[in-house]
Amino acid sequence: AQQYPEWIWQNGVIKPWKDATAHVMSHALHYGSSVFEGIRSYATPEGAAIFRLTDHLKRLYQSAKIYDMVLPYTHDDIATACRDVIRKNGFSAAYLRPVAYRGLGGFGLSAETPIDVAVATWPMGPYLGPEALDVGITACVSSWQRFAPNTIPAGAKAGGNYLSGQLIAREARRLGFGEGIALAASGLLSEGAGENLFLVFDGVLHTTPASASILAGITRDTLKVLAREDGIDVVERDIPREYLYLADEILMCGTAAEITPIREIDGKQIGSGKAGPVTRRLQQLFFGLFDGKTQDKWGWLEPV
Ligand code: PMP
Repeated sequence: AQQYPEWIWQNGVIKPWKDATAHVMSHALHYGSSVFEGIRSYATPEGAAIFRLTDHLKRLYQSAKIYDMVLPYTHDDIATACRDVIRKNGFSAAYLRPVAYRGLGGFGLSAETPIDVAVATWPMGPYLGPEALDVGITACVSSWQRFAPNTIPAGAKAGGNYLSGQLIAREARRLGFGEGIALAASGLLSEGAGENLFLVFDGVLHTTPASASILAGITRDTLKVLAREDGIDVVERDIPREYLYLADEILMCGTAAEITPIREIDGKQIGSGKAGPVTRRLQQLFFGLFDGKTQDKWGWLEPV
């Protein structure tokens, strides 16, 4: 059975996990009206540190702005809640999940409900399985496309978006693949169910643009910065589906997935079928941030 941590932060107080409840008639439960973040803290030689907490919370407030949700807490209040809930549970390497949602206060689509906020945390290892970071995963191109621009904003990390993610991920797993990759409404490549994509051609990283209905991932941004710093070129561009089959290397990235190589897509081997040199280098640089081997020049590690 699923194990839960002891403590959770809800609406300003840390309470036992089982007491953090919401009413069944909460707006968000019916209409998907929540915004959230997924953040990791790592055990570093200098103690527990939350990776890019400020940037994640900035995106949380941006997501909320798109849906006219005014959080009754400041960015600093939520940052403190993140730190407090990790400390209270005695965690260091953990996942953090701040969520703000339309609560009980009206049943109309445009109801001005109260905005409730919670911050949960739980221990988390590699998201796509323990071997995934090393040997890579298999993936398929989903029969489900991403929502088109001007339908649901992909740039907001909102609860309702994850109906799309569930269709993509569940189909992939039903068919025996590790993860699903979606095309945008344009027919061009978008992203994974919960991860951004990088393809490597001749040592250059290619990633899909905002116009391909992606979430602008913080891991994606991290890899762009680390790669350029290391002399690896990065281009953001439209990518047709068949490029998936022709790339030298492909990786998925996200807070949960970290940097996961893809070894096979739609039954076709990618490159050598193993993590390639660019993927390995990015993993080394990325994970090096957390054991002190990569210097954190950007202040990305925010102490708990
Ligand atoms: N795309 C989607 C749809 C996601 O859910 C995520 C995970 N938040 C990502 C990309 C990766 O974003 P990040 O690196 O900020 O976790």
